[in-house]
Amino acid sequence: MNQNEMQAYWMPFTSNRVFKRDPRVMVSAQGHYYTDADGRQVFDGLSGLWTCGLGHGRTEIVEAICRQAGELDYSPAFNFAHPKAFQLAERITGFMPEGLNRVFFTGSGSEAVDTALKIARAYWRKRGQGGKTRLIGRIKGYHGVNFGGTSVGGIVGNRLLYGQGVDADHLPHTMTAQNAFSRGQPQQGAERADELLNLIALHDASNIAAVIVEPVAGSAGVIPPPQGYLERLREICTRHDILLIFDEVITGFGRMGANTGAEAFGVTPDILTLAKQLTNGAVPMGAVVTRDEIYQHFMAHGGPEHMIELPHGYTYSAHPLACAAGLAALELLERDNMLERVRGMAPVLEVAMHSLKGAAHVTDIRNCGLAAALTLAARDGDAVIRPYEVALKCWRKGFYVRSGGDTIQLGLPFTVERQEIDAVVNAIGESIRELE
Ligand code: PLP
Repeated sequence: MNQNEMQAYWMPFTSNRVFKRDPRVMVSAQGHYYTDADGRQVFDGLSGLWTCGLGHGRTEIVEAICRQAGELDYSPAFNFAHPKAFQLAERITGFMPEGLNRVFFTGSGSEAVDTALKIARAYWRKRGQGGKTRLIGRIKGYHGVNFGGTSVGGIVGNRLLYGQGVDADHLPHTMTAQNAFSRGQPQQGAERADELLNLIALHDASNIAAVIVEPVAGSAGVIPPPQGYLERLREICTRHDILLIFDEVITGFGRMGANTGAEAFGVTPDILTLAKQLTNGAVPMGAVVTRDEIYQHFMAHGGPEHMIELPHGYTYSAHPLACAAGLAALELLERDNMLERVRGMAPVLEVAMHSLKGAAHVTDIRNCGLAAALTLAARDGDAVIRPYEVALKCWRKGFYVRSGGDTIQLGLPFTVERQEIDAVVNAIGESIRELE
């Protein structure tokens, strides 16, 4: 591609100016590897964008999408439905913790988050507690890019350009100096959940609708919850009648070696958001799953029967192609015992990643399931530059890894082999050694 052909596309979350001088273009993908425009094989160290844990080009998913496109390419999402929407909703509930059994479809993770936040507010209003509108996120949290998600999000670079958002407060993050280089869940830091008590003291629970957290913060660089932390959040939310939302857009469907983060950590939220791995990334789709009682409350207080109980939804909610892809992807996840494979390989990733402790500039390493990240020290006050350079060096060596803020992140395919783990971690180590 020449420079002129690349000008119209304003790329998301990308340094467009640098990219267009030296583009990285994928033309095909199979299994764990991309083929780039120069014909090179590049290892997919982030499963796309935490999307393609089952690997690329899975025949069953490809065929399901093609069949569906020929049979029913679209059907109106409002007041009509198609069979696979019901089938997929039902299938999803089988992966959810007990009691989470109502599924609302969206087109992405960001839409799932904003849907969840709107459901939370509407729920309290329907219960006659319309003052409960305030939303609480967490510093370093990532909840997509729509206005609700941006407001509860806690990564400053994603917020600072956009001005006033939705009323929100933020819990502190759990990445303490004491917890640096923890393997899996850190032992210290559960008390950071108690900051919620301060926010309740400040605003009163009668003004707070919901708390939203990722069970493991993904985009900020794989920050597993301290032991006991999520339990404490759950306990405080229950005690004060605040809805607890887990944003499982990354942790849902296998990455933690469990169906959900909720299952992995043994804590059940009231509402849970999903996307990415739901269709193995093959067609955009998100979902919100709620406790039965939340759904029932909307039905019981929906007004006359012809009235819409929740005036919310997307043209592409439960899109037939996405439903077909989702059904095929969840079938594979189960049939191929993917959770077991993730659990088997997670310790290999842990050992490999933590072998980088002691490398120059590395100030922390974290891991959970088949996700891991390391933090690199800033250079001349620029926190982003070293990870950015490491990711570029890895790309040149034939490895796609993610640089996010001051971190390098890995989200490996569920079927990754030991030698692939060694190879990608070696490439990161080598790239770090080449840094200034
Ligand atoms: N929530 C979490 C936890 C995410 O990691 C992401 C994306 O990375 C989102 C929400 C937003 O999803 P999407 O990019 O599909 O809108």
